[in-house]
Amino acid sequence: MSALNNGVRVRIAPSPTGPLHVGRARTALFNWLFTRANDGVFIVRIEDTDRIRSTEENLRSILTSLRWLGLEWDEGPEVGGPYGPYFQMQRLPLYQEFAQRLLRAGAAYYCYCTPDELTAMREAAKRAKMPFRYPGRCRPLTTKQRAAYEAEGRRPVLRFAAPSTGSTAFKDLIRGDITFDNTEIDDLVLVKSDGIPTYNFAVVVDDITMQITHIIRGDDHIANTPKQLLLYKALDASPPDFAHLPMVLGLDRAKLSSRHGATSVMEFAELGYLPEAMVNYLALLGWAFDDKREIFRKEELVQHFRIERVSKTAAAFSIEKLDWMNGYYIRQLSLKELAERALPFWQKAGLVPTDQVPTKTLTYIQKMIPLIQERVKRLGEVVELTDFFFKERLTYDSALLIGKGMTAAMTKLALAETKRVVENLSLFNSETLEIQMRSLAESLGLKTGQLFGAVRVAVTGRTVAPPLFQTIAVLGREKTLDRLTEALRLLDTLPSK
Ligand code: GLU
Repeated sequence: MSALNNGVRVRIAPSPTGPLHVGRARTALFNWLFTRANDGVFIVRIEDTDRIRSTEENLRSILTSLRWLGLEWDEGPEVGGPYGPYFQMQRLPLYQEFAQRLLRAGAAYYCYCTPDELTAMREAAKRAKMPFRYPGRCRPLTTKQRAAYEAEGRRPVLRFAAPSTGSTAFKDLIRGDITFDNTEIDDLVLVKSDGIPTYNFAVVVDDITMQITHIIRGDDHIANTPKQLLLYKALDASPPDFAHLPMVLGLDRAKLSSRHGATSVMEFAELGYLPEAMVNYLALLGWAFDDKREIFRKEELVQHFRIERVSKTAAAFSIEKLDWMNGYYIRQLSLKELAERALPFWQKAGLVPTDQVPTKTLTYIQKMIPLIQERVKRLGEVVELTDFFFKERLTYDSALLIGKGMTAAMTKLALAETKRVVENLSLFNSETLEIQMRSLAESLGLKTGQLFGAVRVAVTGRTVAPPLFQTIAVLGREKTLDRLTEALRLLDTLPSK
């Protein structure tokens, strides 16, 4: 997608240490919407410096999630771009270059303190009930002292020589003016002893060299922003604009976790949420157009999204609301579209072949769809709702055939008579069937619920199913008769009371 590029360059920087979760998907969406609304360039950059937790599988899953949501990127993995590479581990020489710049400017220094020494300092701070800040012990080291440490075999980290006076302020596009006292800012580590940069340093180098104009990220990063601003200053680079998005929490106001159910985008996809519903719902996590309208297609979001309208307070993720919205989008689909989208769910459940789907099956599915469209909130539900249509043999507890106030003998008679109705029906459709079945109930002296209940279990194997007569019409005469016959056989095997 080539954008008009008016200079706006926006990025997301996921770490492949896990799949894409709801919170970060929402952040990705807001970045994407902001970019598209401003004719900018949307960049995906991968923060893969955590060598232990970063995996290829997580990377694939993140990219698949973004594509599933329709958040195509203009630069980044798989598509490349003029500011690459887009993986931090391939950018190490660049961080070294910037580290040298900071060293030359006197804004960084090598620190030889060992982990044990740092632990001792941390414990001393704890005893004194003071927050720990690296006290700058290695700042004044002379070349000779450094050489001595090196001779001892110590491998240094590179630290930022953070200013100890003054304050750092910025105007957040969502939260307004924010000021941090510089005393709160530590001499943070920029490059670890293994040569790998830390997040705060790498992100600044990347954002400078990729000419990022707007950083839109979760407000869990807000305390990092002054550190990064000080690095921009030390590097004599002008910083981008910042917008910190409110957190996404569970309805119980706790951090979203597996306790709240599905949390990763691909889990939602597998359950049968539609990407358009997911995008619409994610957009409302912290953003609103007004206090009424909730349904927005992606193009409409691009049109209406304003970063200034993002809320400052945490958003609550409600699965009920998402279900409602997903049901809405499912009902908006044409029968053909719904059939196409539901097909993989039947295939995954082994009800429909995965390679060549027989035309007969497709026609059968087309007939089934109107019966379920109003009833499903997630595509995954179609499997349970319709498996009896596909199965050769039903398995159910035969006691279910005998409804309330019925006996085995009454049920047998009812089903035998139903068989006769089905056999003799000249016009095999739901309307005719319903008329005949209603009069059958009357002549047998049964309530319609009693008769229909027994028939429903016989033909679907369950007590709750799509509308009975339409179901029978789709199932067809032959299958219906087979199932009634089988139900009668089952009734014969029940011990008579
Ligand atoms: N990897 C960080 C995250 O996903 C990037 C933060 C940033 O955008 O600066 O939270």
